[in-house]
Amino acid sequence: EKTKNLINKLTDTHSLLKDEWVYLLQNADVCRDFAFKKACSMRDNIYGKTVFIRGLIEFTNYCRNDCYYCGIRRSNKNAARYRLNKDDILSCCAEGYRLGFRTFVLQGGEDMYFSDDEMCRMISSIKQAYPDCAVTLSVGERDKSTYQRFYNAGADRYLLRHETATDNHYRKLHPDELTLSNRVKCLYDLKEIGFQVGCGMMVGSPYQTNEHLAEDMLFLEKFQPHMVGIGPFISHKDTPFKNEPNGSAKKTIFMVALTRLLLPSVLLPATTALGTLDEMGREKAVLAGANVVMPNLSPKNVREKYMLYDNKISTGDEAAESLASLALRMEKIGYEIVSARGDFAGFKRK
Ligand code: SAM
Repeated sequence: EKTKNLINKLTDTHSLLKDEWVYLLQNADVCRDFAFKKACSMRDNIYGKTVFIRGLIEFTNYCRNDCYYCGIRRSNKNAARYRLNKDDILSCCAEGYRLGFRTFVLQGGEDMYFSDDEMCRMISSIKQAYPDCAVTLSVGERDKSTYQRFYNAGADRYLLRHETATDNHYRKLHPDELTLSNRVKCLYDLKEIGFQVGCGMMVGSPYQTNEHLAEDMLFLEKFQPHMVGIGPFISHKDTPFKNEPNGSAKKTIFMVALTRLLLPSVLLPATTALGTLDEMGREKAVLAGANVVMPNLSPKNVREKYMLYDNKISTGDEAAESLASLALRMEKIGYEIVSARGDFAGFKRK
């Protein structure tokens, strides 16, 4: 009863206290289905029975950072490094456009080979060729002036997960050169400039407790992101966390539902990591309030190399070229994949 009351309170007020979040997380089993139902109807009221698609182009796996969880961290000497050039990326977009994608997500390690000028050239070439498409960037922490240049070049959205909103925990996942305060500063800079901004966290990352997840929810409430990426932690054999247990798909899906209830209009992906842990993960996430899928649009010969965690999927229904089959799977659960750009409800570019 208490958990249901908390879900009702969250649905009505879009806010909970830290203790209430912790209580919900501790008692997920007795309110899971109720939360899913509420989250679905909230998403349906705003976006209808539709799921947006994004073509994910993983354009470099070089990275200057050394995050303990990540397979493309700079210290991983076993990673086969690659970069795509502007023409490769434009070919991905051409193929994506043909398939029906109207958002292209350029994601990569923090690779300074791609200077501000080079990034701006890429962004403006894509926007020139596909003016009806949105460009999303996910290239980590940069100066505000750089973010501004990316925005002026035509970029629309930016994904930068906060990873964890607790300083102590952040320091257990990253070397000292990376700080939560700079991560959060970047997020506020991006928002101020006018991007649709996404943050997010892994579920079940090493040392994570329910208190940490509660702090993540408080941060989401305060920051009011337009997008939130939530995926389970999955270990990678060549990282310091190789022996750490994977996060749980079930808990990840519960976090998706809570996030929908907290942020009604949020763009919420069913993540690749979730699809990696659970073959039905995408469907389960959509039935818990997710409304975005991000199939892999990278050239086939590099997909195996963007290995953030062991066994990361990039084939089958995760591949952009299998969109028809993904669409069928969504139809089976009553949802329709749409070609629209899929901006945050009511969002206007500055
Ligand atoms: N370098 C950019 C950044 O850090 O924002 C973008 C690429 S980064 C690889 C994208 C996301 O992958 C990270 O935000 C992190 O949450 C996720 N990731 C990395 N390693 C992971 C792992 N072992 N399990 C699950 N997700 C992981």
